[in-house]
Amino acid sequence: MPAIRPAAYLPVMALALLLFLASSTFASSGDRHGAFTNCHTACLPNCTHGALPLYLRLLGWSCSGECSYVCAHHLTDLSDSGYEHYHQFFGKWAFYRFMGAQEPASVIFSIGNAWIHWTGFKDVCSGLRKENGLQWWLKLAALAQINTWVWSTVFHTRDLWWTERLDYFSATVTIAITMLYAVVRIFRLQTPRATSPLLYPVCGVLALIVVGHFIYVSSLDHFPYGYHVAFAASLGMLGNLLWISWSVSFVARPSWFPVPYPTSPYSSSRPLSGGRSGNSSSNSSAAGSAPKTCWTPTVLVVLTLLAMSFEILDFPPFHRVLDAHALWHAATIPLGAAWWAFLIKDANAMDEAYADKGRE
Ligand SMILES: [Zn+2]
Repeated sequence: MPAIRPAAYLPVMALALLLFLASSTFASSGDRHGAFTNCHTACLPNCTHGALPLYLRLLGWSCSGECSYVCAHHLTDLSDSGYEHYHQFFGKWAFYRFMGAQEPASVIFSIGNAWIHWTGFKDVCSGLRKENGLQWWLKLAALAQINTWVWSTVFHTRDLWWTERLDYFSATVTIAITMLYAVVRIFRLQTPRATSPLLYPVCGVLALIVVGHFIYVSSLDHFPYGYHVAFAASLGMLGNLLWISWSVSFVARPSWFPVPYPTSPYSSSRPLSGGRSGNSSSNSSAAGSAPKTCWTPTVLVVLTLLAMSFEILDFPPFHRVLDAHALWHAATIPLGAAWWAFLIKDANAMDEAYADKGRE
């Protein structure tokens, strides 16, 4: 999953992740196919758990799982021969394993995402003043991202109920923190030099909502994938909309467009905080200079949405290795790097703007 900027880009990933979750959960015609069930029934009596390779047993493979793997590829062989259309099995295409890892391509790209966010974490530590109040938030977002991609790596290595929950829940936490960073940064609940009294109440409310969601979905007999996806996607899209509105507000801030305000800490002719001084007329242009990076979040949001099209396509994997979900995870690696570059630059620019004004 996806995440973000630290804070912003994962929110987008929310929708993609959710789409993936939904597709992987409900599309499983293969495991109901007669050729698969007959194969599985014939396979089980001939399988002995102790005869499975050690690395498979260490990864939790059982005879039932092994037979499912063998029979899924048997049915996919028929698909390759043109006798069948391609099927998913228990929500997944038939992938060739590598050392017991179920989806090696998604594993590799998940590791790549974890690495890029680790790089982002180090850049935040070295690239921002320690006293910059946004540094702590960016470090938190980076650690949440790293945690998410570690569990994504585990989940794609071995799809078990608990690895699935940890992947889903950690992705949701990252999406929430990413969205929260957008709120904190854009509405200036935390600036490089000051903390708003609203900061902790806002954090508390969001934490209650997310924890309440986890408790609710965990209390049900059957995990509500669709509802969970909708919940995470809503958080993600809210963060995306905030960043887009941030970009738009540099060039137009009509009276019916109340947030965010004020938009630019970079402008020398605009108040650094406070109310609606200056123009607020419909479609007014932003006063002062907009940063060169003001459209960066919007571009990254759009690119992320485009990358999510891989999730929507969800085609059978090339050579049973590279599928749409793996490509989605590959696409988020450069997007993550771009988000970190922007967020660090933005936090430093905000820091300098406040220093120049000698306020807060
Ligand atoms: Zn994934």
